[in-house]
Amino acid sequence: MTARSLPDFVERDVDLAARTTLALPGRAAYFAELKSTAQLAMLAREPALRTMRRFVIGAGSNLVLTGDFDGLVMKVAIGGRQLVEENDDAWVVRVGAGEDWHQLVMWTLAQGWPGLENLALIPGTVGAAPIQNIGAYGLEMADRLLSLESVDTLTGKPVPLDHAGCRFGYRDSVFKQQGWHLDGQRLITHVSLRLPRRWQARTRYAELAAELERRQLASPSARQIAEAVIAIRRRKLPDPATLPNAGSFFHNPRVSGSLAERLATAHPELPRYPQPDGSVKLAAAWLIERSGWKGRDLGRVGMYERQALVLVNRGGAHGAEVIALARAVQADVSQRFGVELTPEPIFL
Ligand code: NAP
Repeated sequence: MTARSLPDFVERDVDLAARTTLALPGRAAYFAELKSTAQLAMLAREPALRTMRRFVIGAGSNLVLTGDFDGLVMKVAIGGRQLVEENDDAWVVRVGAGEDWHQLVMWTLAQGWPGLENLALIPGTVGAAPIQNIGAYGLEMADRLLSLESVDTLTGKPVPLDHAGCRFGYRDSVFKQQGWHLDGQRLITHVSLRLPRRWQARTRYAELAAELERRQLASPSARQIAEAVIAIRRRKLPDPATLPNAGSFFHNPRVSGSLAERLATAHPELPRYPQPDGSVKLAAAWLIERSGWKGRDLGRVGMYERQALVLVNRGGAHGAEVIALARAVQADVSQRFGVELTPEPIFL
């Protein structure tokens, strides 16, 4: 982009550290905070954009900066939440992609619309939520998403997607399958959610069930479930404002049934969750802890003492230190258990 042709909302040489929760150093050559789809259309009319690397961020809560970015970072700040339909079955809300996910959860509950309570306190924006099909305590985005609106950032053309078009999987969607979350080709502007009137509490996860029992709630309301989830998460997860982090750093791995059996023979206490396809889901935190990494540092980064799955920046760390620690943890888990961990955040 030449200086002459820059729309006035595009800034140059912008510090990204403060715009990400892991607080690693890194600058963007160009940075645009987008509050409307009209701004996206303006960007798409800029010819220099066609040859420029692009990247989309929301709250920067799932991002590892490995250095400077020589292209355009588009921060989605499109707001608004609206009840667009109310019928015998459900409430349908349409939400701007830049809204904070947790605030949305709390707002729907305050309106008396249940359905998102298990997903309370998940960091990030509404627009980021479908990309990795966020989930917690037995509920995931795919259970509630009706449709979404996205835009092709090169052409500025709207690309609506229905539920099937999102091709959801475990922490997966068409955005990841196509690599759109890496190349900034598609930007989600709005998400529509369907919140069921015939609501049923989902409390089968042991940790949530135990918290509800401790609170003596045999038939909890959606708000009470959200409060329990919030309490659990606050106990286990560090606040990025005081200890920078990007939430869970590795995916919970799925392994073959035969490997799970072999591991269980050697480690009878290994938590195992059999899947319908015959694979078995393991808890990454357990594997990391048993590999000696819980509460252990390497340089200025470490695996958090209260939840081994969270990688924390103890202060002043660089992306290279995060990569070194992630590799060390992966190597030890692989050597000890024969399980390969894959990082959850995006590396930029
Ligand atoms: P956790 O509750 O200790 O669970 C660890 C692993 O065990 C997860 O893979 C979880 O599956 C599985 N698990 C536990 N109870 C289960 C049950 N009753 N049935 C089936 N699977 C069960 O994990 P945590 O790290 O403290 O996280 C709490 C919740 O937040 C988990 O649901 C986790 O997936 C979720 N979380 C989501 C994201 C994200 O969306 N990116 C990031 C961090 C944590 P599931 O993963 O299928 O739940």
